[in-house]
Amino acid sequence: MLMLCFSPCAVSDGLPDLGDISQTVLTPMQERQIGQQSMLQIRASKQFLDDAEVNDYLNQLGYKLVENSTEPGQEFEFFALNDYNINAFAMPGGFIGVNSGLLLTVQSESELAAVLSHEIAHVTQHHLARILEGQQNEGLASLAALAIAILAARNSPQAAEAAIVSMQARAMQSQLNFTRTHEQEADRIGLDILQKSNFSSHAMPEFLNRLQRATQLLEGNAPSYLRTHPITADRIADIENRIYKQPYRLIPDSLSFQLVRTKLIAAQKTATDAISYFNDALGEQRHGNPIAQRYGLVSALLRNNEIERASREISVLRKLAKLNPALKNSPMIETLAGQVMRAEKNDAATLTFYRTAVQNFPQHRALIYEYADLLLQNNQAENAAKLLTEQLVRHPSDTKLYDLQAKAYAMQNKRLEQHLAQAYSFAWQGNLYAAIEQLELAKQAGGNFYQLSTIESDLRELREIQNARGRK
Ligand SMILES: [Zn+2]
Repeated sequence: MLMLCFSPCAVSDGLPDLGDISQTVLTPMQERQIGQQSMLQIRASKQFLDDAEVNDYLNQLGYKLVENSTEPGQEFEFFALNDYNINAFAMPGGFIGVNSGLLLTVQSESELAAVLSHEIAHVTQHHLARILEGQQNEGLASLAALAIAILAARNSPQAAEAAIVSMQARAMQSQLNFTRTHEQEADRIGLDILQKSNFSSHAMPEFLNRLQRATQLLEGNAPSYLRTHPITADRIADIENRIYKQPYRLIPDSLSFQLVRTKLIAAQKTATDAISYFNDALGEQRHGNPIAQRYGLVSALLRNNEIERASREISVLRKLAKLNPALKNSPMIETLAGQVMRAEKNDAATLTFYRTAVQNFPQHRALIYEYADLLLQNNQAENAAKLLTEQLVRHPSDTKLYDLQAKAYAMQNKRLEQHLAQAYSFAWQGNLYAAIEQLELAKQAGGNFYQLSTIESDLRELREIQNARGRK
């Protein structure tokens, strides 16, 4: 029941030390565990960009690419970080992070796909595992310390400062960068993924060239991406040689890509600045997609509490989107329309709107959160709990879904279920102490034999992890 896949199986016998790893090959399971440990740290940090629409988009794009990789069956997780350094990084086990700085720097979806394909190749080629195996540093206490070191090395210095827990981790940092051979292999395999996925292969050298030109202007203040993925003239020439015969094709950016970028642009501005920015863009018919610009305008109006105008503009936006068959089905536009409706407090019609929207876009988490919250507001706890339980099968580590589920159970006076949901939410936030406390409360609430033995085994598992952490 508790799908705490992050709990390393190795934990029961204590965390393995690096001495073991350097002699054996890291198994895919161990790689996944290292990545999952790092993800717990990342989700708990302020750097994690907690926006389901941005992260769902990255996963859609990412999985489209993974399908054309050498390991289409492998599990991946793509996520965004709130960091204006230009960087993207892979962690063992298929966890791939993209900084908002990179999302704002790429000039097309193909460029973003090129960066992701390169990172996917680092994962499928097990480059990090190979680097880690090569490390003979016996001073490193555990896999967890390694995980943190990887995270620290891939991120900005400030984040690294917070994440580094030991001197060993600090020493690791300098050695964790990919080698030239790794980079060339990732380029070659990444290019293959990019082509098979129908993106422009020319996007890869274009992006690298632009980064390199920008770096020359910055004088030594290179984007993190160049530090962690060293670019050489050889490397770019190598890619160009591979693709020079391929014709240039214009691959249009998806609407989701444009809306996600609009969201990130708006997030950099105050609400009033964002309103004038998108107003001007629409008025001057500035280069860019007018649908995305109006989307930005509506969300800025909503932020600024200009509900009436937001409502007028969203009607225009939905009409525009409907005229274009390619844009007709945008869950992000529907989500924004729902938010405007909720701000207008039109309850009955709003509930109907959300019911239809969730039927049309059952995978769009931002819509699910809103609909569940609205159901709770309207005392429909049972419907909310049903919706959330279905969604948790799809997203077993989504703490927002657990929090809403706990509220739904509390309203139904289902104490055991309520505390269980709270426990899982805390566990996935990395707060084991609070999770154990909630499991104890669930136990006290009483249940049938099956429920109580599940709680006992969850408690055992969490205490083992906690003890392993304490021993470090
Ligand atoms: Zn690389």
